[in-house]
Amino acid sequence: MISGMDAPLIRTALPGPKAKAIIERDGKVVSPSYTRGYPFVMARGAGAMVEDVDGNLFLDCAAGIAVNSTGHSHPAVVAAIVEQAGKFLHMSGTDFYYEPQVALAEAFNEIAPFGGPKRSFFSNSGTEAVEAAIKLARYSTRRYGMIAFLGSFHGRTLGSLALTSSKAIQRKGFGPMQAGTFHTPYATCYRCPVGLKPESCQAECLDFLEHQVLVHLISPDEVAGVVVEPIQGEGGYVVPAPQFHERLRALTNKHGILLIADEVQSGMGRTGKMFGIQHFGVEPDMVAVAKGVASGLPLGVTTSRAEVMDWPPGAHASTFGGNPVSCAAAMATITLLKDSLMKNAAEVGAFMMDRLKEVQQKHAVVGDVRGRGLMIGIELVKDRVTRQRAIAERDKVVEACFARGLLVLGAGKNAIRLSPPLVLTKAQATTAVDIIDQALGTLGT
Ligand code: PLP
Repeated sequence: MISGMDAPLIRTALPGPKAKAIIERDGKVVSPSYTRGYPFVMARGAGAMVEDVDGNLFLDCAAGIAVNSTGHSHPAVVAAIVEQAGKFLHMSGTDFYYEPQVALAEAFNEIAPFGGPKRSFFSNSGTEAVEAAIKLARYSTRRYGMIAFLGSFHGRTLGSLALTSSKAIQRKGFGPMQAGTFHTPYATCYRCPVGLKPESCQAECLDFLEHQVLVHLISPDEVAGVVVEPIQGEGGYVVPAPQFHERLRALTNKHGILLIADEVQSGMGRTGKMFGIQHFGVEPDMVAVAKGVASGLPLGVTTSRAEVMDWPPGAHASTFGGNPVSCAAAMATITLLKDSLMKNAAEVGAFMMDRLKEVQQKHAVVGDVRGRGLMIGIELVKDRVTRQRAIAERDKVVEACFARGLLVLGAGKNAIRLSPPLVLTKAQATTAVDIIDQALGTLGT
């Protein structure tokens, strides 16, 4: 029973006996391509607390990779799922109609971060939401080129993988990649690719795109879309200087290139606004959404300006996409986000960030603390002057958090990411930061 618990409680050695047995079975039959950093075996969850199969209680600042936006099994989401499941589980929005999908498209028409009429395409995951965006951009512009940013993550199917450039292992062995995809530096301000300071720069990192890629590699009138994470997720929870998105919008407008915001990780209230791009005062032409949208049920949404999503029947579809149970979960999720959770993400996120900045003062290994709302990255360095990445140290801190009952994940080579459920309380945030402080202390730096 975990309701009412607000502190981690570790009762066994980790992993405990039941977890060990499951991990052993998994090791024999499940694909070894998954990246498990530590041996957590889930039994149940409520809010921001999870229990493993041996009865150990953890505070969850990972949320199944930034997915359980409304917390584990929020009663309102579970009720919506149960109600819809009792009516029908599937009817394929590709060939038939059902109201939950229409209602969700109407909801996206209201919340998507750009003006005018919109249309939505439904799939099952982040990578599919991005695939749909790529196909739609090509179809709509009749151009083939796609631009993405170094360090980005957009998915692992072959179209989105051509955009992904987070870690070489994700691409290794799967090439050649889809032709016509070009990469350019992101505004990784802590490690500025052109050696400037974010306070005074003019997003010169985009010079490479404007004056090299679009001059030497592909003519701008052959580029269909630029796909950008408003805040880079898997790449290390990297917040760009605001000028970056402003200049990118101006550049794409100039050449009739579609600006596609990949909001799979930064969207659905995580940053304290419905979409990450809304922190930068820029309106994209399209958004790709997944992860937190349905609180844990599989769903991908690609929403674009209506005039862009103008493709004929048969051009694109998905048997399971926009499953009615997922749509019902998404409607309940959006209501909770609007009613209280976006506000909570902004408030608790700001509180947590302040506390983490205090912790930074105590540990030289913490080079940078950054983020928006409850999308927070902590970058570890061997030396604050050289900013040499502390890769092994990061892994040790993640493990030390786990040993103390806190689930966190890494991001990029040397950052810790905090992506908790948006129901996290200030008390839980304090507990999480205290554990991170202790875990950093184990490094003896
Ligand atoms: N886009 C972004 C920004 C992501 O962070 C991810 C997953 O981490 C994806 C796309 C792919 O999502 P999925 O794993 O659901 O295919």
